[in-house]
Amino acid sequence: MEICPKCDSNMKNSVCIDCLKEEIVEWIGREEKHLVEIVEDVTEDLKLYKGKHFGCVFCNKKINLCEDCYKQEVYNTIREADSRLAEVFLSKFMKITPMIML
Ligand SMILES: [Zn+2]
Ligand SMILES: [Zn+2]
Repeated sequence: MEICPKCDSNMKNSVCIDCLKEEIVEWIGREEKHLVEIVEDVTEDLKLYKGKHFGCVFCNKKINLCEDCYKQEVYNTIREADSRLAEVFLSKFMKITPMIML
């Protein structure tokens, strides 16, 4: 079992952040095209975290972050730009209640 380097919980997801991003970008591109870039940017930033073992079921890249951490970061980022859209993101993509940051 691999531990998420950000939250120290077991990573249950089998999909990497790039592949998670695809789905989010497709949605946000229909909503607010200019926000595609910030989702791309936050995903790149999160690649600072290095995964070790698991291969993504879609692209076989290393999985470096758990799905919850990734979506939490994306949520925070969208929220800074557009709080209405952040709420839509929440109901559409997140099953957990996000921690409201600072
Ligand atoms: Zn995590
Ligand atoms: Zn992938």
